[in-house]
Parts: sequence; structure tokens; C-alpha cells
Amino acid sequence: MFNKLQDRISESFKHLRKKGKLSEADVDETVGEIRRALIEADVALEVVKDFSARVKEKAYGAARSEALNPAQQIVKIVNDELIEILGGEDRELHFARPGKGPTVFMLAGLQGAGKTTLAGKLGRWLGKQDKKVLLVAADLQRPNAVTQLEIVGEQAGVTVFAPEPGNGVGDPVDVARRGLALASGSGYDVMIVDTAGRLGVDEELMAQARAIRDEVQPEEVLFVLDAMIGQDAVRTARAFQEGVDFTGVVLTKLDGDARGGAALSVRGVTGVPVLFASTGEGLDDFERFHADRMASRILDMGDMLSLIEKAQETFDMEQAEKLAGKIQQGQLTLEDFLNQLQQIKKLGSMKKLLGMMPGAGKIREQLDQFDEREVDRIEAIVRSMTPAERRDVKILNGSRRARIAAGSGTTVADVNGLVDRFEMAQKMMGGMAGMAGAGADGMGMM
Ligand code: GDP
Repeated sequence: MFNKLQDRISESFKHLRKKGKLSEADVDETVGEIRRALIEADVALEVVKDFSARVKEKAYGAARSEALNPAQQIVKIVNDELIEILGGEDRELHFARPGKGPTVFMLAGLQGAGKTTLAGKLGRWLGKQDKKVLLVAADLQRPNAVTQLEIVGEQAGVTVFAPEPGNGVGDPVDVARRGLALASGSGYDVMIVDTAGRLGVDEELMAQARAIRDEVQPEEVLFVLDAMIGQDAVRTARAFQEGVDFTGVVLTKLDGDARGGAALSVRGVTGVPVLFASTGEGLDDFERFHADRMASRILDMGDMLSLIEKAQETFDMEQAEKLAGKIQQGQLTLEDFLNQLQQIKKLGSMKKLLGMMPGAGKIREQLDQFDEREVDRIEAIVRSMTPAERRDVKILNGSRRARIAAGSGTTVADVNGLVDRFEMAQKMMGGMAGMAGAGADGMGMM
């Protein structure tokens, strides 16, 4: 997502960087290019217009001020304004006041937007915060939706309330009401109501969603929006705002390669903030939405904060420190390497991780070609080694290498390649150990 937009914007900045001083014409040219890039990325016209006008006004000021490095100032202005259209400051989810009973979140959106999946993601996320969560299956329209929610609930480790076949089937309002009674009576902290979606917006769907909303009085109505639907996103968002008056937006499928305009438009058009981003089919492919991080992702400044946050959740710091010590002393073994690889894998796919690094836009082609299975191959090879071999690769003679290749389903050339690279890295680390030790601190992290 945003690849093309990223390229276009960094291209327009490149022209600027060559200039020492900026004229208004330079500003016009750059803003014009960014404007075209945004329109091509399917951002709503009214949002683009507003954005360009604000950037222009501030950038003229920067150009007139004859400040040093005007190009950098304009990058900053564009960044600030992008943050603004993406929603500015983050907003937390609203929970019910103490004593009121369970907090209710209701999900609304078109069919296929990702509501059911989101119910599981949100349930799991809240569960990790020690909340007792109940998912309520009030999507009785789509065949299988109830079963799908039950499966998702089980994966997320969250209880699901679903109508028993033949009992109350067909009346989602009744299901929501009974769900709320169960949630209130059994000490649930949060109830998440999954509602039906249609392939297109229709009044019957809206009336049903309103009826459910009025019945359960949710703290938040979350509008789930598939970021891949392009220009339709704005129309859909408007219809749902009129229909159910949502309080927060969740963008899904941000991992896809659509142009991403929806993400950039929805807040500007509705005034309602985006609270979460869904970035894959897995239950953990889900994060809080941060306007500032999204802006820096679009401007290809990387998303180190999200990465660090993920790393903190996942990494065992004590082990990382031990490892840093070993690296400093040039004593890293393949055993350590395997442990490290597993920790990194817990963060998600390698491609996704590398994509969050600053400058990732520039190596996108290599990233696209990155074969996730390479990581599995390396792991298989190391796993096929005996502990002694992992500790000391020097004992790896021809017959051992052939055994490892056979055991890991790879070739001797693959094994040789890995061992060579590892020995080279070990040498480099040994060399670094000779230098000031402090510099190698924290290297264990990546
Ligand atoms: P619903 O009809 O709104 O309940 O949508 P579902 O939850 O059934 O999702 C529709 C499809 O989109 C399913 O195949 C999901 O696995 C997929 N999906 C949901 N969220 C994401 C996401 O963030 N990224 C990707 N790639 N797929 C998603």
C-alpha cells in the first residue's frame, strides 16, 4: 500500500533538494506534483484540495523566510499536514463508565470489509489487556457468518454468543439483546457485536444496524472499511455515517497493494478518527492506528516506532543482552542465531518488518523478491545440525554437510552458503570486538 504515492512524493522532494533557495514557483510545482500523486492514489478530491491549500500557504512562508534548507522545511510541512488529514492526535477507545455494565462495541460495514475477522482481532487484543470479552453473532444474513465468528472466537480464545439454530434465527436485534443480557449477567467487561453487511449500501441494512445500535447502546460504533475499495470508500463512509453515525473507523487490508486513498480520505470526509489498522488475515495482524506513523510511512521515513513497540512486546531483553555480549566477544554460534531468528519471526513476516525500515521504498524491488521461504530454509538447515555442530561450524566436514542437506531438504550448496555467510559474519563481529566495545551494544536486537 502507498508504494506509488511514496515514489511520487519522494520524486517531487528530490527536485527541491537540489535548490538552495525556493521561489513561489518552486513551491507551486512541488505542491502540484504531490496533489497529482494524491489524486492518483484515490484520495478524495475535497481532501486533496484542502491539503494542497494548507501546504502551499505554509510553504510560501518557508520560502519567503529565506531559512536554511527550505526543502527540508517543506518535507516537514507536508509531513505535518499529512498527519493532520490522517487524524492528528490518537484517540483511545471509549469504555463504559464504571458500574454501567459491559462496554459495547458494535461493528458495521459492507460484506467482506473484515468485520468478523476484526471481532476476533479486537477480542484477542482486549483479552490480552485482561478484559473478559464476549463476541455476539448478530450477522444472520450471510450464510456461515455465525460459524465463522465461532471459529474466529475459538482462535482468539474469546467466548462467542450465537443463536442456536431454529431459535431466534432471523432476528439480529433479538440476538444482540440476549447477548447483552448474558454479558451483563456473567460479568463480561466488553461485548463486541458483529452485524450483517451487504455487498452494497442499502436502506434495509442501515435500518437493521440502527435497530441493533438502539437496542444495545454501544460505547463505540466502529465502521470497518476495506482500504482496497478505492474511490467507493468515501461514498460508503458517508452512507454509513448517515445510516448509523459511527464513532470510530477501522481500516482493513492495509497490507494489500491498493492505492490507499481510502485511508487518507475517510477521516477528512467524515471527521471521525481512524482507531485501528488491520494488516493481514492473521489475528495478530492488527494495530492501533497512529496518524504520525502512517504519515512517515507514506513519506518513506520508515515506521521505526511501530517496529520498536512490536519488538518490545516480543523480545526477551535478558536474552538480547546476553547475545549482545557474545557478539562483542565474537562468540556467536549458530545455536544463538537460531534463537534470534525465532524471536524475529515472532514479529511477523520478514518482508513486513523490512518494509517498516526507513528507506524501504528504495529497496522495494528487492523486498518484493524477498522469498519468505529462505528464512525457513535457513532454520531447517540449522535444525538439522547437532548441538555440537551448531556450537562450532568448523567440525562440519563433507559427510556432515551432506547429512544436514538431506535432513533439511536442501542441497549441500545451500548448507555451504549458510556456513560461509555465518563464518564471514563471525569474522566481522570478531573484528568489531577489537574496536570500542560500546558500539556493538544493542546489536543483538536485529
Ligand atoms: P465481513 O464480511 O465484514 O465479516 O468480512 P470477513 O471478516 O469475513 O473478511 C473478509 C475477507 O477478508 C476474509 O477472507 C478475511 O480473511 C479477509 N481479511 C480481513 N481483514 C483483512 C486484512 O486486514 N488483510 C487481508 N489481507 N485480508 C483481510
